[in-house]
Amino acid sequence: MALKRIEMPSPNQSSRQGANVRLLVLHTAEGALTIESLGNFFSSSSAQASSHVGADDKVNTVGQYVHRNNKAWTQAAFNPVAVSMELCAFSSWDLNEWHRHPNMLANCAAWIAEECAHYGIPIEALTPNEAQGGGRGVCQHKDLGTEGGGHHDCGPDFPMQEVLTMARGGSPAPPTPEDYMAIAAAQNKAGVLHVFVEAKDGDIFYTYQPQGGNAWNGGEAGKRIAGLTFFAPAPK
Ligand SMILES: [Zn+2]
Repeated sequence: MALKRIEMPSPNQSSRQGANVRLLVLHTAEGALTIESLGNFFSSSSAQASSHVGADDKVNTVGQYVHRNNKAWTQAAFNPVAVSMELCAFSSWDLNEWHRHPNMLANCAAWIAEECAHYGIPIEALTPNEAQGGGRGVCQHKDLGTEGGGHHDCGPDFPMQEVLTMARGGSPAPPTPEDYMAIAAAQNKAGVLHVFVEAKDGDIFYTYQPQGGNAWNGGEAGKRIAGLTFFAPAPK
């Protein structure tokens, strides 16, 4: 079933000037809690910002502020080559909070599926290097670095791999520890423990624990793999 797109046009858009779309970029709105309030913000030309669509907790529905043929204004230097979605969420959300919004995650997945199908873009997470270097796929605003505006959304606990699994038509069930296999761990001179983990699909994740610490960087007790940082794709 096609995603219902409620039109709320924003004046904050412009021509791609011939650039081809190669990126889907996910953001958190950091304020607006509904697609309507986000649309209201984007409807003011003084906002000088927009996004193609927004997602909240409504079933199979997004707000559409800019059509994909035009450029939305949300990730600086990458606007010409990107279509973008704002999640009505906060980058500070932990995984439990994200999981309280299954419709929002499903809407995000459905949008990814539709845009990737339209542009022939693979439903794959890009590394920052790939996203900034001409790769075709899905990324978060944080993957675009300084030239993308230097933002950190969608935050460390956004369940990117779960959303991509749903976008591919798979089960929304979160990954379990059995879906991962530790491949390397090393301690440096300062006593920092570095761990690299490979997922079944070949993606490599990284986390570390400072000497004397008991929390994994980017993770939380009891969440194990949930907070790992995307590191790099494994060599094919
Ligand atoms: Zn953003």
